[in-house]
Amino acid sequence: MAELRELYQQTILDHNRNPRNFRVIKDADRSAHGDNPLCGDKIRVYVKLKNDVIEDVSFDGSGCAISQSSASLMTTAVMGKSVAEADQLFAKFHAMVTAGAEQAADRKELGKLAAFAGVREFPARVKCANLAWHTLHAALESRTEPVSTE
Ligand code: ZN
Repeated sequence: MAELRELYQQTILDHNRNPRNFRVIKDADRSAHGDNPLCGDKIRVYVKLKNDVIEDVSFDGSGCAISQSSASLMTTAVMGKSVAEADQLFAKFHAMVTAGAEQAADRKELGKLAAFAGVREFPARVKCANLAWHTLHAALESRTEPVSTE
């Protein structure tokens, strides 16, 4: 278990240091702004859709290691997925960081996202981990008002 925890920590550190898809999509079909005032995390998520598939997704902004690495992992997780699949993944991720979905099947499906399972022990950090997902959700729903975790 200690080794697994170590591995998870490495994943979070790696994505914080080298965030994937940290860029602006100039011709994005959708974008949304997310704000977590409790921690000071601010991000913007950009999405390019082809039919109902997330053809490209990216983010930019600034914040703590958890929010940045979660955003980075979120983009790699939903890239190429349908909007419905992305929503399902968000539901599973949300369940994991709040209630703690420990089922092996869910873990397997979450893949590297399972790195954030330990976050539920730190309620203030749950908002950091969820921010990118809430913002993605808002972008996909074309909501115009900024997302706040408060
Ligand atoms: Zn944060």
